[in-house]
Amino acid sequence: MAAEQRKLLEQLMGADALAGKVSKRQELSLNDARVCKSYLVGTCPHDLFTNTKQDLGLCPKIHSEGMKAEYQREKEKGRDFTNFEIDYLRDVEKYILDCSRRIDAAQRRLERTPDEIAQTSSLLKDIDELNEGINASVAEIEILGEYGIIDRALKEFHAIKVKIHNRQQKEKELRIINDNMGLSGHQKLQVCDVCGAYLSRLDNDRRLADHFAGKMHLGYVQMRATYKELSERLSHASQYGRPDRRGQDRDRDHDRWARGRSGRRR
Ligand SMILES: [Zn+2]
Ligand SMILES: [Zn+2]
Repeated sequence: MAAEQRKLLEQLMGADALAGKVSKRQELSLNDARVCKSYLVGTCPHDLFTNTKQDLGLCPKIHSEGMKAEYQREKEKGRDFTNFEIDYLRDVEKYILDCSRRIDAAQRRLERTPDEIAQTSSLLKDIDELNEGINASVAEIEILGEYGIIDRALKEFHAIKVKIHNRQQKEKELRIINDNMGLSGHQKLQVCDVCGAYLSRLDNDRRLADHFAGKMHLGYVQMRATYKELSERLSHASQYGRPDRRGQDRDRDHDRWARGRSGRRR
């Protein structure tokens, strides 16, 4: 750039912006570790969930439209970007595994074990009995009071205190079971097996449609599709022995994906 032109641009854009842009473009190659490969190859997960409950915040790596265009040009010329695709696959896999773990946990919370059901009904029965006992004692104290039998009334009063304490204990146990079961009381809930959100079986079609068209759900739909497509293609490529440009490293990566894929539930 001629000095005159540069000076003019600096005045227009500010010297810092210009220096930053120029040096970044000059120094960074697509291979640079600071460049986000997910963004180059497809869609960076950080861009999928902005302003949703799963918002991942800004990607710490560089997203540059210019570099994405450069990647496309190079790819069309036939340059092999398998290593970039593996990076992308690895990145996406991290979020998918994380999501699947959340789905499993949410599912577990919805499932009430027979043991929990038995414990709950036994505790509820105990609490009912204690309530009856407390009511009976209160009635008795009134009568004893009317007849002026104070020492028996005091004894009865002490018995009430013990029963109330027992009831509190039972209620606490009940709460602990309920907390561990979490949402199991809400039998009408189910877990979306794509994004892990709770869905109500009572929701009307319109609300369900809203969920399935929502940003978070669609983000996971897209990531899962990408993951499936890439992992199949990459393991396929290794299976049929494409010319190897990265040596053993790449083979190892491919083998890992192929192994990881079989036996994975989601
Ligand atoms: Zn990124
Ligand atoms: Zn969903």
